[in-house]
Amino acid sequence: MSLHEITKVRKDVVRRSLRVRSTELLTPRMRRIVFESDELEGFDSPSPDDHIKIFLPANAGETPVMRDFTPRQWDIPNRTLTLDFALHESGPATEWARTAKPGDPLGIGGPRGSTVVADDFHWYLLVGDASALPSMARRLEGLREGVPVHVVAVVADSAEQQSLATRAAATTEWIVCMDDPRQQASALRDALAAWPFPEGDGFIWISAEASVARDLYTFVVDTWQHPAAWVKAAAYWTHHDTEPEAAH
Ligand SMILES: Cc1cc2nc3c(=O)[nH]c(=O)nc-3n(C[C@H](O)[C@H](O)[C@H](O)COP(=O)(O)OP(=O)(O)OC[C@H]3O[C@@H](n4cnc5c(N)ncnc54)[C@H](O)[C@@H]3O)c2cc1C
Repeated sequence: MSLHEITKVRKDVVRRSLRVRSTELLTPRMRRIVFESDELEGFDSPSPDDHIKIFLPANAGETPVMRDFTPRQWDIPNRTLTLDFALHESGPATEWARTAKPGDPLGIGGPRGSTVVADDFHWYLLVGDASALPSMARRLEGLREGVPVHVVAVVADSAEQQSLATRAAATTEWIVCMDDPRQQASALRDALAAWPFPEGDGFIWISAEASVARDLYTFVVDTWQHPAAWVKAAAYWTHHDTEPEAAH
């Protein structure tokens, strides 16, 4: 295996029907929902930034609304899967999650593709908003003991700060800023500009609103001249008046 390998894994999409087992507010705007189903047999998610499609319940004849979510935890012997929903102002997924109760059905599909990043970099930088926290939390849980990792997370309120478990040598910078992409981009760029850039090879992961992810990708690759192969930037949601395309 070569150094800093980044491997793409493809799988056939499996659709599954789940039911809500329990719900819990992790913070005022982050609702954890544990699902159960015998159909979870064989479920796997090789990378922390995998996503599944959720299919929200629809009336007969209507097409279900689909959204992307991160498999936060899963326990196949107990047939459970956990998703963390960052609650925002309004949208079908956030509204469903806000009121979900035990027994409610939800369809899922995937994950279909995974990008598995080797845990052999000298350091990691994870940047994102509340919708990226489930993935960042997963990556932190998986990184090797003592590896330096810096997290920059933008949240709407200081009550949204979560405790993030890890064996890595993690530092976390919480930035409180409303869901406005322009404000988020500028606050995150300022935080990155002030960060003492470490020596050695680093992997940088960015996920946020589409224009924010694009802005930060440009900053990291053009201003820092960080190798593009060691940067992953993704649009996790799109503000209504910005382009609905992925960053990189
Ligand atoms: C790979 C991937 C993994 C993801 N994992 C998670 C996850 O684990 N947990 C999670 O909470 N989200 C996650 N997201 C983000 C989630 O898919 C989007 O936020 C999604 O748009 C929410 O759908 P909705 O029906 O609530 O709102 P939509 O109908 O999509 O949007 C309605 C309105 O709300 C705004 N909006 C949408 N999302 C947000 C947001 N996050 N913050 C503020 N405003 C928003 C939109 O601009 C729009 O105006 C992930 C996205 C991707 C691509």
